[in-house]
Amino acid sequence: MTMSETILIRGARVLGGAAQDVLISGETVTAVGADLEAPGATVVEAGGHILLPGLVDLHTHLREPGREDSETVLTGTRAAASGGYTAVHAMANTFPVADTAGVVEQVWRLGRESGYCDVQPVGAVTVGLEGRQLAELGAMADSAAQVRVFSDDGKCVDDAVIMRRALEYVKAFGGVVAQHAQEPRLTEGAQMNEGTVSGELGLTGWPAVAEESIIARDVLLAAHVGSRVHICHLSTAGSVEIVRWAKSKGWDVTAEVTPHHLLLTDELVRSYDPVYKVNPPLRTEADVMALREALADGTIDCVATDHAPHPHEDKDCEWAAAAMGMVGLETALSVVQHTMVDTGLLDWAGVADRMSARPAAIGRLEGHGRPIAAGEPANLVLLDPAYRGVVNPAGFASRSRNTPYEGRELPGRVVATFLRGRATVMDGKLT
Ligand SMILES: [Zn+2]
Repeated sequence: MTMSETILIRGARVLGGAAQDVLISGETVTAVGADLEAPGATVVEAGGHILLPGLVDLHTHLREPGREDSETVLTGTRAAASGGYTAVHAMANTFPVADTAGVVEQVWRLGRESGYCDVQPVGAVTVGLEGRQLAELGAMADSAAQVRVFSDDGKCVDDAVIMRRALEYVKAFGGVVAQHAQEPRLTEGAQMNEGTVSGELGLTGWPAVAEESIIARDVLLAAHVGSRVHICHLSTAGSVEIVRWAKSKGWDVTAEVTPHHLLLTDELVRSYDPVYKVNPPLRTEADVMALREALADGTIDCVATDHAPHPHEDKDCEWAAAAMGMVGLETALSVVQHTMVDTGLLDWAGVADRMSARPAAIGRLEGHGRPIAAGEPANLVLLDPAYRGVVNPAGFASRSRNTPYEGRELPGRVVATFLRGRATVMDGKLT
């Protein structure tokens, strides 16, 4: 397809509403309505499928530079497009760390060259993710990559003074600090959620309080300096209560939840299959239900994948030695349909909000998370919610296969993804 092509999507349920036609000319949606005519246009028969704005991920590990054996910007963005994403935020824990303008510009350029999905680099908060010295936040913000989200994800910014300085610094350019909330001393040697199951298995626990105490401190710090904080991969019912309280005060606090924390529990660790090893760990059924309710009522702003590819040698080993993390880009929408839509907790307009509009707003990402209307950028995903299929990682576009859903039936399938009017996925296949 060329950039100037005209595409007519016929009979799509826009945000899950009544079927309409959507006309795309070049990079832009030019009309939405009934019985649109467009002679010469490429026609996509949507057949009642759901049309949403292209998904936006605030939390993706693309692994390049440095760990191209697990993922590259190209394979990661192909996985993102397959999952319906048109923009992803690439986390900073690469080798070298994305803590300078040079590294974030390199990642940003690789994303532009991939053509499958926009890549917005996340800058490190501290030099080398070491937690001691602020990285060049201003230089990264002023770079071609225009970084707005800063995170030491993988590590917690546990020094309260460093966190305060970072929060103060990003105010100058409307940035946000995204915190991986994990009190390090309380989680030394942690292997799984601290609770009944960890006690029975004799594995060192990762207690909920290690997450909740950092969130409580950071919402107070953000309020104190009048800045903006975002909580990565919130995983406990207690964390939900703290964020709810902070929002009730009017503080500028946002939070994300991963698809796996909306579905899976620590009972799965009984299998000792390291595919279930992730940080923060899978929690309890009560936590899962609290997270779903919080996403439905808006206490949790968005779904973020924490897509964490690992080569099989880092996962196919004993539990204690295995790396933490799961791939998620290609299954996120299906897991959200299963846990939130098919349960009646969220409608498709709500999914568009939690997986596109709000993450784009938190990341200050222009051109994404927009309404589907004339004059808007044609960043779109068309999905078939009636599809039922068994997850088969052999078919993933990601270079890694560490999915916890292998063999599991999940609903929904991405039929097409459009990045600025160009199909990156068509008929369920990458173009
Ligand atoms: Zn993290």
